[in-house]
Amino acid sequence: MSIIVEQLTRRFSPGGSPAVSDVSFHAPAGAITSLLGPSGAGKSTLLRLICGLEIPDVGRVLIDGVDCTSLPVQQRNVGVVFQSYALFRHMTVRENIAFGLNVRKLPRAEVEARVDEMLRLVQLEALGERHPGQLSGGQRQRVAFARALAIRPRVLLLDEPFGALDTRVREELREWLHQLHTRTGLTTLLVTHDQQEALEISQHVVVMSDGRVAQAGSPEDIYDRPASPFVASFIGGASVLRGRVLEGRASLGSLALTVPAAAREGEAVHAFVRPHDIKLARSVSTEGVTPFTGRVQRFKPVGGFVKVLLRMPSGDEVTVQVPRSEFDALGVVEGDAVRADVLTASVFVGDYAI
Ligand code: ADP
Ligand code: MG
Repeated sequence: MSIIVEQLTRRFSPGGSPAVSDVSFHAPAGAITSLLGPSGAGKSTLLRLICGLEIPDVGRVLIDGVDCTSLPVQQRNVGVVFQSYALFRHMTVRENIAFGLNVRKLPRAEVEARVDEMLRLVQLEALGERHPGQLSGGQRQRVAFARALAIRPRVLLLDEPFGALDTRVREELREWLHQLHTRTGLTTLLVTHDQQEALEISQHVVVMSDGRVAQAGSPEDIYDRPASPFVASFIGGASVLRGRVLEGRASLGSLALTVPAAAREGEAVHAFVRPHDIKLARSVSTEGVTPFTGRVQRFKPVGGFVKVLLRMPSGDEVTVQVPRSEFDALGVVEGDAVRADVLTASVFVGDYAI
């Protein structure tokens, strides 16, 4: 069951800028698709348009090829999980999971059987009689999944489902969701601002910015071939180097990179470089070769890595991530000059403006 969104626009105030603006994308059947973007990008509004909690000004939503743009939520048969658990506090876990089934007036025996099946699916068999207040955050969110899945939805829509949990639980649940998805094979749309989550868990990523689709593709496409400066800067913690086109190459300090075909001589260019795409070495001047040097402004060990802030001759600052053992072997201190070899970068024509 695929989800297709066609030219959706939703404006909350007349004349104001739309929260969702002319958005089209395709969430393939059986896959996890992430809607990734910073806060305010329009992700939740888009999800609410798909599940029927919002009606678009323009555009269509098709689930499994059927136009459901004007269908009420109940008739879309979608499972939804939000960041806040939204469980009924006065009901037990079983009663929470049964809620949607009772609303649909399923026979009692079938409701009980379905609840048992869901408890097994989310691995909470032993906790059916508890109330939400007696569960951990991660367990509550698994109940929310069980409740969403109990109605046998055609698609699963998730709005930052792990957003309220601490890092370790979030990572555990990420793996759990991956396994759940493998078992159910349900078409899933996951709203997240967490690029790690999106790149790790989904087969398809739709990057959003300012109510629009900035890029859609596989996690590898998004990471390795960012289509715009926004995507390049949003994904992967890249630093920016600025320069000009000189003799057909992007000249960034002493570095010369390949430029996009359309670049003209003398034109401004900028490049995004990720922290682990720069290799540091001792600055040794070889005759005739000017190494690309930076000065170590600051460094800070973070886990197994050392984060190094380099200041380039141009004034641009670049963050570099070096494995700790490599950094120790380098033996540099603050203020030292180092050679910085850029392994890969995304180059764009024009001035860099944020
Ligand atoms: P995201 O989920 O990516 O953080 P949202 O879809 O929540 O983004 O919001 C997108 C924009 O729409 C924001 O500028 C937000 O303030 C605005 N917005 C969202 N919901 C409403 C609403 N009900 N009324 C008015 N403005 C809204
Ligand atoms: Mg949101």
